Amino acid sequence: MKNLVTRVGPAFATIIMTLTSVVASVGITFFILDNFGNGVEPLVLMVAIIAPMTIAPVIIGMLIKLIHQINQLEEEQRHLACSDELTGLRSRRAFLENFELLREQAKRDGSILSVAIIDIDNFKIINDTYGHGGGDALLKSFAGVLKKNLRKSDLVGRIGGEEFAMAFLHSDPEKAMKALEKIRIHTQKNVVDYLKQKIKCTISVGVVQWCSHELADVEVLMRQADESLYYAKKTGKNRVIKFDPSLEALQA
Ligand code: GH3
Ligand code: MG
Ligand code: MG
Repeated sequence: MKNLVTRVGPAFATIIMTLTSVVASVGITFFILDNFGNGVEPLVLMVAIIAPMTIAPVIIGMLIKLIHQINQLEEEQRHLACSDELTGLRSRRAFLENFELLREQAKRDGSILSVAIIDIDNFKIINDTYGHGGGDALLKSFAGVLKKNLRKSDLVGRIGGEEFAMAFLHSDPEKAMKALEKIRIHTQKNVVDYLKQKIKCTISVGVVQWCSHELADVEVLMRQADESLYYAKKTGKNRVIKFDPSLEALQA
């Protein structure tokens, strides 16, 4: 019944189930009357036929409504687990799941996979200056900057408080770097109006790029992007830094 509601919708499911149950219950009534109903009063006969025809649609209607509500709740829960409530971007879990798929795709068609971790600079100061509400408004607005600068195939998620991740496939690695640099500049220029105040921020970005024949695990890629981000923070912030194995030595 749950599958039927999902497949054909609650209205159509009600019609199908009602017709089925009316036909079944009237059939059973006729069978009983035929075999054991000798001498039954015409009034009793009428009630025996009409009662299931009226009660069945009511019960079926209530049941279908309940199943529909359960389906909606399950769908909402799935959506909440996959998307970040504040920004509408993918949650960390959803990002990593989709990233794994993108990595598989890069492996199949030989494109270059770029992964970026983006962290808002000095966000604690923004929170301290404008309050948590101001910080939230900035996060939402920054998510808007990301969405505006994305292609349909690009993957983006909020993976932490003021930390975001992007993954994309490119034939030309320089294009990915240019796209991230563009996001950095747009963020710097973006002004958020919050309670008659103007909030601005900058971002630091760590990037790693891999081609299919040497593609590393998702965890390794994320760690290397994180190392580049660490280097961007350490060397003045508001920068996009591409991973280089020599950065690993700096971390040690
Ligand atoms: P850095 O430039 O080195 O990244 O410094 P930072 O201040 O941005 O980083 P830090 O990790 O010190 O502070 C991040 C702050 O983000 C601390 C935390 O309270 C805040 N934060 C985390 N999640 C949210 C959120 O959902 N909304 C708001 N407003 N603040 C958040
Ligand atoms: Mg930060
Ligand atoms: Mg951070």
